[in-house]
Amino acid sequence: MVSLVVSTAMENQDRPAGRYAPSPSGTLHVGNLRTALLAWLFARSTDRRFLIRMEDLDRTAVGADAQQLTDLAALGIDWEPPVVYQSDRLATYASVIDGLSATGRTFECFCTRREILEAPSAPHTPPGAYPGTCRHLSDAERAERRAAGRPPAIRIRTDADEFTVTDMLHGDYSGSVDDFVIRRNDGTPAYNLAVVVDDAAQGIDQVVRGDDLLSSAPRQAYLATLLGHCPPTYAHVPMVLNHDRVRLSKRDGAVTLTDLAELGLSVGDVVSRMAVSLGMAEPGEQVTAADLLRRFDPAALPREPWLFAIS
Ligand code: GLU
Repeated sequence: MVSLVVSTAMENQDRPAGRYAPSPSGTLHVGNLRTALLAWLFARSTDRRFLIRMEDLDRTAVGADAQQLTDLAALGIDWEPPVVYQSDRLATYASVIDGLSATGRTFECFCTRREILEAPSAPHTPPGAYPGTCRHLSDAERAERRAAGRPPAIRIRTDADEFTVTDMLHGDYSGSVDDFVIRRNDGTPAYNLAVVVDDAAQGIDQVVRGDDLLSSAPRQAYLATLLGHCPPTYAHVPMVLNHDRVRLSKRDGAVTLTDLAELGLSVGDVVSRMAVSLGMAEPGEQVTAADLLRRFDPAALPREPWLFAIS
């Protein structure tokens, strides 16, 4: 096991925490907001701190972070400051990647996406998993590829094919763990690395998020273990879908608090509709986030997606 102790000012292990970790690429829609509300309910109902982390290593929109915080607060969600920005933590990610590399836990990968898709996969490699092309390159082969001008990504050298996580809604969930990317070839730390490093540094032991990320959890929990951290408990909650049963997006029309306000729906109306969708209020009943906290029972949550439609 590689044990990397990265101490930061963020560390605060006194009381465990839950979190919501949006990507500030635009305004949150009702699907995002419902997930955030659930993450807050899970955390607060178990006396955890609740933290917000801006996952801004990818595309961001100017002002989206502030708008997201305004909308979360409007719902009645509160959190312990500070809001952490991943872009402020690049040195920490770099030192974790260097630590893994120093113990032979990584390798450089020069493959393009296309080469990975077209590579013949080994008999036991699950579909979509990295086929291992660059895992055993010699120094000379690496130098040749570098000289050809290809910047390498860094992948973790795994010693497991599968890892099992515990999920409060899905039970024990096993998923494949391949040699996944921890630093992209443009030098940006990969989401799977940053999320694990940050959850551990922030004392987060409860991860509540959309169930589109369930299949990423085994990789993340494996990496957490490798870094000497205890993986969090997960709750991957059902998504919000549009009429075509496709994940809700901005293209689906009135889906943000601002859009809905223009149609005459107050924030209270939106919270109440979410509550109905979660089986926590009767249709037409007005409830607040604080009311929901008193009623919250994870075991009674629906397992089906919410089909969102204004009527
Ligand atoms: N930033 C990711 C998203 O907005 C969520 C990551 C996570 O919760 O682990 O989809």
